[in-house]
Amino acid sequence: MSISYLTPEFLIERNKSRCIDCKVCVRQCSNLAHQYDEEEQTVISDDSKCVNCHRCVTLCPTKALYIKKHPLEFKGNANWTGNAIREIYKQAETGGVLLTGMGNDRPYPIYWDHILLNASQVTNPSIDPLREPMELKTFLGRKPESVKIKDGKLTEKLPPQLELEVPVMFSAISFGAISLNTCKALAASAENSGIMWNTGEGGLHKDLYKYGKNTIVQVASGRFGVHPEYLQAGAAIEIKIGQGAKPGIGGHLPGEKVGSEVSATRMIPTGTDALSPAPHHDIYSIEDLRQLIYSLKEATNYEKPVSVKIAAVHNVAAICSGIARAGADIIAIDGYRGATGAAPTRIRDNVGIPIEFALASVDSRLRDEGIRNQVSIVCAGSIRNSADIIKAIALGADAVYVASSALIAIGCHMCQKCYTGKCNWGIATQDSNLVKRLNPELAAKRLNNLLHAWSHEIKDMLGGMGINAIESLRGNRLMLRGINLNDRELKILGIKAAGE
Ligand code: SF4
Ligand code: SF4
Repeated sequence: MSISYLTPEFLIERNKSRCIDCKVCVRQCSNLAHQYDEEEQTVISDDSKCVNCHRCVTLCPTKALYIKKHPLEFKGNANWTGNAIREIYKQAETGGVLLTGMGNDRPYPIYWDHILLNASQVTNPSIDPLREPMELKTFLGRKPESVKIKDGKLTEKLPPQLELEVPVMFSAISFGAISLNTCKALAASAENSGIMWNTGEGGLHKDLYKYGKNTIVQVASGRFGVHPEYLQAGAAIEIKIGQGAKPGIGGHLPGEKVGSEVSATRMIPTGTDALSPAPHHDIYSIEDLRQLIYSLKEATNYEKPVSVKIAAVHNVAAICSGIARAGADIIAIDGYRGATGAAPTRIRDNVGIPIEFALASVDSRLRDEGIRNQVSIVCAGSIRNSADIIKAIALGADAVYVASSALIAIGCHMCQKCYTGKCNWGIATQDSNLVKRLNPELAAKRLNNLLHAWSHEIKDMLGGMGINAIESLRGNRLMLRGINLNDRELKILGIKAAGE
């Protein structure tokens, strides 16, 4: 066999004066980057196997480990960067498509960081959220044009709505891509926090039916785990047309990840690859989509809102107009930084558009067409903090989906190796030993804390703007200003430049 030209990406440094050869790092590393040398009676490392997940560094009792980017560099070249050369080596050695996990990590502009929020001064005074009520409750679903009230009560039935205590939901991540313990943590935290979690395309494990009122059940092209009881179990149904990390292509869960539990939940044989086709084979037009939306409504007695999730791509505004007219109650738009368990690197990094542009153009188009209230918009694709959330809402979202930030909250260290199934943090894995590393109760508490902290921050920012209800911020772009943006970008975002 010819030698590999690939050199290690990371360098493991072990401080021998601190290391007590306890072998914790040996046991913790699923990539076998640490080994016990019986002859020398000491722990040694293999840099080439390290993925920089920080598991060993975090758990080493004497803090003896450091991991650095490997200092070995190629000759400086602005065109042929080290990464570009390494990728060619990998493909020349394997003949395969490059795979990656999590979201797009290319240095494209992050428009959230070019948008600033307003705050009240002198007139329209700010509100102190510690002393005055502040409403974050959000309802997702079709809103009627008008309502009739008699004796203080509504005289008509409203379309079904999802009720959220905070305008945040856990985005779709399937059981199979992540462990059951991770699903449990997301579901329990959603219940505790009064929000929703989303099954993704992997069906609903029997242990999770009890969280139904906080669950969005997804129907994807593979129809894995979809049956009448599943549709009835959720508070809403989501048709997945696309996702930001891999617009236009299907999904692939390798057979090694399809153990007995995943197989029973997805209704596929154990050990077989779960391949979801790129298109839904019954959807070739907006009319076909309408048929599926109404079939799902019919199957659930018109009691549940139906969401349609798409990737943010060119012409997203026209696509969303069609989806709203097809009868969707909610549209989820996933930007090009949206994460995934596994995606071809080239697709992830080169297909789609930024969620900030997609969101602003969809909201504007639906308003211009007078149909904005027929549908709620959920913004997804790398929402990192409470400021991103509040900017998204001011740009036109009703709520946001978060996935990467939720996984980071429970221990993900963004090594981007989810597709290997060897997640050392017990998140993106089905390995029974690794799965045990994530305690679902503790993980749910961390998620609750994150949502609690974000709620406080959102209230602070709202109060600062003199607004006491999150609903009043929706699409209120006067509260936003752009920095370091050109005229075209400002126009698409529908905001003024800072100082204007
Ligand atoms: S976990 Fe730390 S102390 Fe234990 S063997 Fe590894 S480096 Fe040494
Ligand atoms: S989920 Fe696990 S494998 Fe995926 S990026 Fe996070 S730590 Fe790495």
